[in-house]
Amino acid sequence: MDHIRELSRILGSNLITEREQKIPYMTDASYYEGDLPMAVAIPDTVDQVSAVMKYCQGNSVPVVARGGGTALTGSSIPMEDMLVISLAKFDRILEVHPEDRYAIVEPGVKLDNLNQHLQKYGFFYPPDPASSIAATVGGSISTNAGGLRASMYGTTKNWVLGLELVLPDGNKINTGGKVLKRTAGYDLTSLLVGAEGTLGIITKAIVKIWPLVESKGRILAYYDSIEKVGSAISDLKGKGITPLIAEFLDRITMHSLSQTRGLEFPETASHMLIIDIASTRESIGRELKDAEEILKKFNPISTEITTDKEEMDRIYEARKGAYSSLLSERSTMSERVVIGDIVVPASELPQALKESEEKVQKYNLTVALFGHISDGNIHANIYADIADQDHMKRVESFQHDFAMIAIMHGGSVSAEHGIGLEKKELLKMEMDETNNAYVMEIMKSIRKIFDPNGIMNRGKMFDQ
Ligand SMILES: Cc1cc2nc3c(=O)[nH]c(=O)nc-3n(C[C@H](O)[C@H](O)[C@H](O)COP(=O)(O)OP(=O)(O)OC[C@H]3O[C@@H](n4cnc5c(N)ncnc54)[C@H](O)[C@@H]3O)c2cc1C
Repeated sequence: MDHIRELSRILGSNLITEREQKIPYMTDASYYEGDLPMAVAIPDTVDQVSAVMKYCQGNSVPVVARGGGTALTGSSIPMEDMLVISLAKFDRILEVHPEDRYAIVEPGVKLDNLNQHLQKYGFFYPPDPASSIAATVGGSISTNAGGLRASMYGTTKNWVLGLELVLPDGNKINTGGKVLKRTAGYDLTSLLVGAEGTLGIITKAIVKIWPLVESKGRILAYYDSIEKVGSAISDLKGKGITPLIAEFLDRITMHSLSQTRGLEFPETASHMLIIDIASTRESIGRELKDAEEILKKFNPISTEITTDKEEMDRIYEARKGAYSSLLSERSTMSERVVIGDIVVPASELPQALKESEEKVQKYNLTVALFGHISDGNIHANIYADIADQDHMKRVESFQHDFAMIAIMHGGSVSAEHGIGLEKKELLKMEMDETNNAYVMEIMKSIRKIFDPNGIMNRGKMFDQ
């Protein structure tokens, strides 16, 4: 069968076949390089998506869905002679209902664009991965993205009410609905959140929206040890304070931000905390002071409070750009920044952070640690020379040990980036170590029900 000819019949000019135009789809934001896709479909109607899927299932053509291509685990790259299905033309915000607190959105809408639109209504969509300028609604749902505001609002799974999904056989289903409460059989919407495009193609989402915060302010706190940072955040949470955002950065990350963004930090600080508090106009001053008092108990080098919007935006954007800043500081062409993404309960943070730093020393690697610390989420950004096999072995060993720290402290090997290609072994390790090998079997069975021919993002998350 001439797949290109048949797919052209369905898609017309919405099919890309030129080599030069296909090349950008070989990579995502991870360090993996995929294969050249057979073609790239950019459908503009659900009927086209259905027809493409029906053809692909019938003819065993493997497919991979693609949103913004910002995945950090290799989950959105084509691996063999795959068809990439880009949702770039599904970019409309269809309905906004502040009174019922939901919006209906197409999957290709970029998160920042959605929030810009919702602002007019005095509302926002809380999931806020640092890649929000390019990450899409569909991609972030499919990875259950977290991000900075997960500290207060949780991850994407808390914000998806319903989905329209095209199954591999081309049939369309709708899960969930427009209501904030629903207990009607198995929760298939939750199953699809974080499924990394292995169960079908999301073509529409009903997402929960929330009123904008009335007032917010920021505390910056600088410390000379990672344990103090862990203890401070753990105590803050223990005292019942839920920050809007709570981020930590280490010395390497601070240095990188001062080089690339001109930010200034105290010379002796090895770590910093960025804590945002959301409240009413009347209470914000007092609540910032209360939080600062707790942070001061752990002997910071200094703390400062700001409510200046411009200054807050500058630091927020710098934090969001931290990964890009680290990337821009690579010393050779073959160097990459591989990113670990573990999570532990907040009370385990001081010990988990200490052990993470010990592993960095053990493997003699350059690793920048930062993360969404209020959620217990630590990112290890490892400078990895892919041309040096010995170096890559040490990187792999570090990733293994770093993941094991999460498991041993009751956490997980993946907090918010998903599994993709990169964390397949680590997922298996987590299941084995927690005596949950059978859960893996259930996951495989579920995948088979949705995708009996195994065409959806083959080779990702786990081998079928
Ligand atoms: C600089 C940077 C910072 C980041 N910061 C964060 C962060 O703070 N928090 C966080 O959680 N993540 C973060 N990420 C990771 C990534 O941005 C998120 O996972 C993001 O949500 C992916 O969205 P995307 O549209 O780019 O998805 P893609 O990369 O295009 O796809 C991701 C996965 O979803 C699948 N998919 C995409 N669209 C659909 C669809 N319509 N139907 C079915 N499956 C689909 C793909 O097949 C793939 O498996 C960051 C990435 C970068 C590069």
